[in-house]
Amino acid sequence: MSYSGSSRHRVVVVGGGFGGLSAVKALRRADVDVTVIDRVNHHLFQPLLYQMATGILSEGDIAPPLREILRRQRNVNVMLGEVTGVDAVAREVRVDTVGQRSVVRYDSLILAAGSRQSYFGHDEFAVDAPGMKSIDDALEVRGRIFGAFEMAEVTADLAPREAWLTFVVIGAGPTGVEMAGQIAELSRRSLHHNFRGIDPASARVVLLDGLPRALGPFPESLADRAVKDLTSKGVEIHLGVMVTGVDAEGIDTNASELTLRRIPARTKIWAAGVAAAPLGRIAAAATGAGTDRAGRVQVQPDCTIAGYPEIFVVGDLMSLDKLPGVAEVAMQSARHAAATIGRRLRGDSRERPFRYRDLGTMATISRFRAVATVGPLRLSGFPGWLAWLFVHLMFLTGFKNRAAVLVNWLIAFVGHGRPQRAITSQQVFARVSLTANPAGASARHTQPASSHQQAS
Ligand SMILES: Cc1cc2nc3c(=O)[nH]c(=O)nc-3n(C[C@H](O)[C@H](O)[C@H](O)COP(=O)(O)OP(=O)(O)OC[C@H]3O[C@@H](n4cnc5c(N)ncnc54)[C@H](O)[C@@H]3O)c2cc1C
Repeated sequence: MSYSGSSRHRVVVVGGGFGGLSAVKALRRADVDVTVIDRVNHHLFQPLLYQMATGILSEGDIAPPLREILRRQRNVNVMLGEVTGVDAVAREVRVDTVGQRSVVRYDSLILAAGSRQSYFGHDEFAVDAPGMKSIDDALEVRGRIFGAFEMAEVTADLAPREAWLTFVVIGAGPTGVEMAGQIAELSRRSLHHNFRGIDPASARVVLLDGLPRALGPFPESLADRAVKDLTSKGVEIHLGVMVTGVDAEGIDTNASELTLRRIPARTKIWAAGVAAAPLGRIAAAATGAGTDRAGRVQVQPDCTIAGYPEIFVVGDLMSLDKLPGVAEVAMQSARHAAATIGRRLRGDSRERPFRYRDLGTMATISRFRAVATVGPLRLSGFPGWLAWLFVHLMFLTGFKNRAAVLVNWLIAFVGHGRPQRAITSQQVFARVSLTANPAGASARHTQPASSHQQAS
């Protein structure tokens, strides 16, 4: 099937994440027909995935449907499908919607396909150490975390029980720090009185990073503060330690301390690296553009591909001036692309370079504690947390989502509860662990019968 569109200028946007959605919204008054293509039907607020994984938020809270967000924007058509090919000469993209193929033509193309987890050449680690990039990932991690406490409860022998109660987070960037902090809080606070055979507060939460310091993008003083806060919450932090192996029962490292060489741990979460989405490679091959080490497409200062002024690459997929892979870069570069298209349609074809305005960065440690840089301000502790709360509420899409998130935060942060602890039989011990028969656990519990919900 081929979509040729109308006689108006056709803008195709690939990806409905931070970049894609910003571009689409910025084109709302332009005299163009926009098609936004995404392989999923929702816009995912990735910075709160870790809260979904730890039972605070539901998938609906952080992933509203693209069609719903854009229902009032009459010049937009939403299409579900994965872009698998770009023909830069014929100006069309190939789309695969669960096996159904189509071709979509464009006059301007904005590629905003984001990034994926990188295991630095060890993709086999993904089997036992899922990453944190999608709803599927977060639900799997949720299943593994809550499932691990269930398994510990029915495991009589000490060593295997301790392995179920050990959680290793690999990567001490913002995502790893937030994840480790939440697992610690969950075990020490939210699961209190929930179990009879185990004390969830005895869980060991380990945060590892190959680099010598945590929270690389933050000023050193704030990173040190975060490490101190996490340690006080019971997180064990080991920096300068590389993971050399991951399997169902634990991880291997290159640590000099013998006790860290092998850490028996049933639950491992990979928060260590990202690489560009595969579309980067496809677009580069179609245009002759270069890519950087992470597979991001090298662009001109105005975010277009050299020789193809009608193709823009924005956000995590773009390689420009070593800009970081953060939401603000994606949104600002996407708006720049949309503004350039608008200007060209008005007859102004002058090139204007994209200039990024750094608005700051933040990470939560636990309830009421965060570190944040906002302009010249350096915030930590409760003021940092308030800044974090405000910014995240503002950036969430849609009033209904903000209201739902606020209620869930009240339950989790002011109360003790974790309102979103439903795990299904597919997730409870996660894809691969289902096949394992852990020592000390009764067979009855290695094959859960059906989905179940744990009230908080
Ligand atoms: C766990 C986590 C926490 C984070 N925390 C923060 C934070 O606190 N602050 C911050 O600023 N940034 C944070 N980030 C980074 C931020 O989310 C990204 O920089 C941002 O999402 C990039 O926007 P994007 O539009 O380039 O890509 P994305 O938002 O990832 O969107 C890409 C979209 O493209 C779609 N797609 C991909 N390939 C195709 C294809 N071939 N065909 C069709 N669709 C496709 C995907 O489904 C997705 O919807 C975090 C990221 C993660 C994973």
